[in-house]
Amino acid sequence: MLKNTLKRFLMGGLLLLSLPSALVNALEVSLYVSEPEEINTTSALIKGHSEMMVVSAQPNISAATRLANEIEATGLELKYIFLTHAHLDHFQGASVLLKRFPNARFIATPDVAELQRKRIAVSDDLARSRYGDNAAVPSPIVAPYNEDTIFIDGQPVELSRGFYGDVALGEPDEPHTVAYVPSAHTLIPSDIIYYNGHVMMGGSTKESRRIWLTQINHWLKQDYKMVIPGHMPKGSDLTPMGALTHTRDYIMAYDLALENHDNAEDVIAEMKRQFPTIGHESALLIGTYMNFKVMHKLLFNPTVETIFSILPDALAKWIDEKIYESKKADWQGEHIH
Ligand SMILES: [Zn+2]
Repeated sequence: MLKNTLKRFLMGGLLLLSLPSALVNALEVSLYVSEPEEINTTSALIKGHSEMMVVSAQPNISAATRLANEIEATGLELKYIFLTHAHLDHFQGASVLLKRFPNARFIATPDVAELQRKRIAVSDDLARSRYGDNAAVPSPIVAPYNEDTIFIDGQPVELSRGFYGDVALGEPDEPHTVAYVPSAHTLIPSDIIYYNGHVMMGGSTKESRRIWLTQINHWLKQDYKMVIPGHMPKGSDLTPMGALTHTRDYIMAYDLALENHDNAEDVIAEMKRQFPTIGHESALLIGTYMNFKVMHKLLFNPTVETIFSILPDALAKWIDEKIYESKKADWQGEHIH
């Protein structure tokens, strides 16, 4: 009897002792968002008591430098820079972070790493034309990471693969990894989810959008403490599930707009009518011109548009098709640079 009481007392004591230490060890997640001209790319800072990691590395030198300052100000050791998908706006800034934090490891799941390596040349060219001296090039090569868990101060960050999200030109899907921080009940789906901005739908198909929505509907049931989108206007009042509902509503509206209209201009007008105040209109324009293969529009050059307007339709379509095939090969890493 006495022995049992003693045992219970000791176990209770152990529980009391272990509970506060679990709370102390919980990871904290905070959000960094870059400026509109840096396409409001987010980075998630996952912080322990002495170590930390960052998810997404920002698109250019200015954005990545401010992120590096923020990381430095935490006083924590940056262990990992994690890349969720092989898009330049999330990996080029790693060159800046690695200079500032040479002991950090720049990692991605093997499928993302393979695709990033193929896309570096075309991504770096694009960044030079887009950002000039502010381009964070050459991009560092991300190392493949084979585990499904990353530990920060002994606490897990879980990685799940095989999700659908935004895609590069000409591919209905490409690898996206989702990070989840159990101790903060926070999901980091990166560019599978956007908040208060047009979602990049270029390359998506009816089937890929259906799978994309199924993923979101599953997450909507999870009651997360926070879901961090890949892009959101700076200063937005992000609610825990707000990014999920925004992206779900946007994809459903886009799907319907494609069903009801047979040309890019009408789809764009319909989406602007339904979402009149949200940011990142360029994603709507680029994605929709891409989906209808009116590639010359992607140059946003009035002279080119005038020339195309006087070309016979069949010839204009043929040229657009050729540009599309060439760009597609670029993004799939088929062209040697
Ligand atoms: Zn992005």
